[in-house]
Amino acid sequence: MHYDVIIIGAGPAGSAAASALAREGRSVLVLEKEIHPRHKSCGGGLSARLLPFLDADLKELIEREIRRIVFRLRQKEVSSSSVDPVAYLVMRPRFDAYLVEKARKAGAEIRENAPMRDWCEIPDGVEVHHRAGRDTASFLIGADGATSRVARKLHPLWKKHLAFAVEAEAPMRSREETVWIDLAVPRGYGWIFPKTSGAAIGIADFKSKVEKPQGLYRDFLKRHPLLSDEGSIAPNGATIPIYRRASPPLAQGRVLLVGDAGGLVDPLFGEGIFYAIRSGQLAAQAVVAALTGGDGVRSYDRAVRTAFYPDFETAGRMAKWIYAFPGLFLEAIRRHPGAMDLYLGVLRGERSYGQFWREVQWAFLQKWIPFKNTAG
Ligand SMILES: Cc1cc2nc3c(=O)[nH]c(=O)nc-3n(C[C@H](O)[C@H](O)[C@H](O)COP(=O)(O)OP(=O)(O)OC[C@H]3O[C@@H](n4cnc5c(N)ncnc54)[C@H](O)[C@@H]3O)c2cc1C
Repeated sequence: MHYDVIIIGAGPAGSAAASALAREGRSVLVLEKEIHPRHKSCGGGLSARLLPFLDADLKELIEREIRRIVFRLRQKEVSSSSVDPVAYLVMRPRFDAYLVEKARKAGAEIRENAPMRDWCEIPDGVEVHHRAGRDTASFLIGADGATSRVARKLHPLWKKHLAFAVEAEAPMRSREETVWIDLAVPRGYGWIFPKTSGAAIGIADFKSKVEKPQGLYRDFLKRHPLLSDEGSIAPNGATIPIYRRASPPLAQGRVLLVGDAGGLVDPLFGEGIFYAIRSGQLAAQAVVAALTGGDGVRSYDRAVRTAFYPDFETAGRMAKWIYAFPGLFLEAIRRHPGAMDLYLGVLRGERSYGQFWREVQWAFLQKWIPFKNTAG
């Protein structure tokens, strides 16, 4: 059968694209290899800035609203609080299944247990091979995650930078609306995201493969006073395709890459859900424009470069500094709590990373450089 668009993968990126396209009256087929609700290694942290783009009532899905972040290095802690929530914590199986259902209700055809096997370009479109046969479409959206087959075929020489993470759910002795970020993990961080029962816990190495990841994870569990390794389940390993400069075009010919498939993950804390959903929506807009006579889908690549890459560049510079000198970072935010307040504004969507960084630099300059009034 022929569709306007075939989407590979029904994670947040694929579902967001499918909903947006179906609402525009486009015929959409989504192929998902698993059956929802399915497991996805993830902390389930949604920054509050995502809410205006979700067009959904998330009340039932939210496990915790987060108003406080604590940065921790060995025994030292520095915290920052916000009156309004800075993040919402969800369970990924439920959250993703909800987004899939929304796309289905909007009119998208979702086929689960239907892995894509291969795809190729044909005149004026693409042909997709899957378990049950083949279908064609005018456009293909690769939303198939960190190890995307669509991306590998589109850009065979592209080496994504894969950070390595280990995560699990564990019991927790707290019901606080607080997220903990532990900077004692070499070249990365550990996180504790409290949920309704227990917490999502993990460690990520942003440089390379973690050596002895299970050991690092157990150490992390032991050193935090609110955690216990009794009853915790065995952790899973997973990769996070964090942004690196010189990514190839995310729209080429009739193929677009969204979310993790496009390497759209913030290099500071590995936030990917916001960018997955936004890139899915931006890709849908570009495809609708192209189907109605626009100049192809390259506008999607331009939109991503404008909307996300400046943030990623700033976040990448911050990550280099913070993970190389975590002690200095903790001391800096202890002495200058205003900087953390500004950062919470990024999570609430009040400023971009770029604005945040400029404001922080300006505040430091004003404090440390003795300006002279030369007038008169
Ligand atoms: C340990 C860990 C913790 C994280 N914590 C957070 C967090 O707290 N907050 C945050 O914002 N981000 C977090 N991230 C990142 C976040 O999980 C991803 O950025 C996000 O899931 C990307 O969404 P996506 O839709 O692009 O890909 P995915 O969610 O990976 O969805 C891809 C879908 O494609 C399907 N698929 C794959 N191949 C095929 C195929 N051949 N055919 C059909 N279907 C296919 C998969 O089954 C899957 O359902 C974390 C990542 C990890 C690994």
